[in-house]
Amino acid sequence: MNDNLGKIYFTEEHTLLREMVRDFARNEVAPVAEQQDREGKFPDALVKQMAELGLMGVPIPAKYGGAGMDTVAFTIAVHELAVADASTAITMGAHTSLGTMPILMFGTDEQKKKYLPSLASGEMLGAFGLTEPGAGSDAGATATRAVKHKDKYVINGQKIFCTNAGKAGLITFTARIIDGDEDLGICVFMAEAGTPGIRLGPPEKKMGWRASDTRSVYFEDLELSQGQILGIPGKGFRQFLTVLTGGRISLGALSLGTAQGAYQMALNYANEREAFGQKIGKLQGIAFKLADLATGLQAATHLVYHAAWLKDQGEDVLKEAAMAKLYASELAMRTTIEAIQIHGGYGYIREYHVERFFRDAKVLEIGEGTSEIQRIVISRHLLEEAQGT
Ligand SMILES: Cc1cc2nc3c(=O)[nH]c(=O)nc-3n(C[C@H](O)[C@H](O)[C@H](O)COP(=O)(O)OP(=O)(O)OC[C@H]3O[C@@H](n4cnc5c(N)ncnc54)[C@H](O)[C@@H]3O)c2cc1C
Repeated sequence: MNDNLGKIYFTEEHTLLREMVRDFARNEVAPVAEQQDREGKFPDALVKQMAELGLMGVPIPAKYGGAGMDTVAFTIAVHELAVADASTAITMGAHTSLGTMPILMFGTDEQKKKYLPSLASGEMLGAFGLTEPGAGSDAGATATRAVKHKDKYVINGQKIFCTNAGKAGLITFTARIIDGDEDLGICVFMAEAGTPGIRLGPPEKKMGWRASDTRSVYFEDLELSQGQILGIPGKGFRQFLTVLTGGRISLGALSLGTAQGAYQMALNYANEREAFGQKIGKLQGIAFKLADLATGLQAATHLVYHAAWLKDQGEDVLKEAAMAKLYASELAMRTTIEAIQIHGGYGYIREYHVERFFRDAKVLEIGEGTSEIQRIVISRHLLEEAQGT
C-alpha cells in the first residue's frame, strides 16, 4: 500500500502492525506458499506462528485474549498476508471474521467467556457454515432443520464449502427451527467439533486456495441445547447478514493483497525482461497495463480501508463493504490475468508464482456473496437512499 494512503487510515499502532505482518508474510509465508499450494497442505505451522504473533484474534478485545485492535488493523493483517499467500490469509480471515466475530457480536457473556479466549489465541480455529447444496446466494433457503424437543434441538442437514471445517474446534452454522408444525425461522447454532452427530466430508479439491481447508459438514441427529444458540432464535438471517458485511471487508482486503502480490511480480518482471532490445516495461503495451493496474490498486485500497475505517466509526457499512469487495475482487482477477500476460510463457509455469495468484483470485468473485450479489446489495441500497430523499 502506498504510504500516503496509510497516513489517512493508520495510527502509529497500525503502522507497526503492518511492518510486523509484512515481515512475517515475506520471511515465513512466501517461502512455503508454493509448496503448500502444490501439496494442498493446510498451513498448520503458520497458524501456530500467527497465534504466537497475536494474529488469530486481532479485532477481539484484550479481555478475551485478543489483540484488542480494530477493523482497520484486521484489514491490514489480511491484506499483508494475502500479498504472500491467499490460502494463509483466508485461513486467518475466515477464522476471525466468520468463525469468531459472530460470538463476539451475538454471544452471551457466558458464551464469550467460554469460547473467545481459545479462538482469539488461535488455540482453537473457528468455521462458519451458511452455504448448503440448495442455498448459496439464496442463503435464506436454508434447509438444515433444528427440530425442537423440549429443551433441546435435533439437527439434520448439510453445509457445503465450509472454510476451516476440518481443522475447526468450533463450528457456527445456520438452521431453521421447527417447533411442532411451526417454522420459527433461521437461527445460528454453535457446535464443538467432535460432538456426536457431526460428520465431516473429505477436503474439496480446489482450483485455488489449495492450502485452505474447505469441506462439507453433515449434521446427523446432532443434539444441541438452548445454550448453543447464538443470538436471538428466528433472527439468524439478519445476524448472518451482519457477519457477512464484516466478512466482505475481509475478502476485500484479501483481494487487495492478491492483486498487489501479482502486480508487484509483474512490475518486477517488466523491469527485468528484455525484448526488442529494451525492457518490456518500456513498451507502451506493457507500460499502459501497469499504469491501469496501479490505478486500480490505489482505488481498491481506498475502498477497502475506507469501509474498514467507517465500520470502526460505528457506521452501517453494508454498501461500502459490498463496493470494496466487488471492486477489489474483480481487480484481483484482472490483475492476475494481466500479470500472467506480462510474464509471457513463464507466467503459465508454476515456478513464477503468478499462476497461483491467478488460480487463487477467481474465488474472490464468488465467496461471501458473488459479484452479482454485491451488485444487488449496492443497487438496492442506492434505490432505498434515493427513495428516502
Ligand atoms: C473455496 C470456497 C470457500 C467457501 N467458504 C465458505 C464458508 O466458509 N462458509 C460458507 O457458508 N460458504 C462458503 N463458501 C460458499 C460461497 O459463499 C458460495 O459458493 C457463494 O455464496 C455462491 O453460492 P453458490 O455456490 O450456491 O452459487 P449460486 O447461488 O448457485 O449462484 C450461481 C450463479 O448464479 C448467480 N446468481 C444467483 N442469484 C442471483 C441473482 N439474484 N441475480 C443474479 N445472479 C444470481 C450467482 O452470482 C452465480 O453466478 C465458500 C465457497 C468456496 C468456493
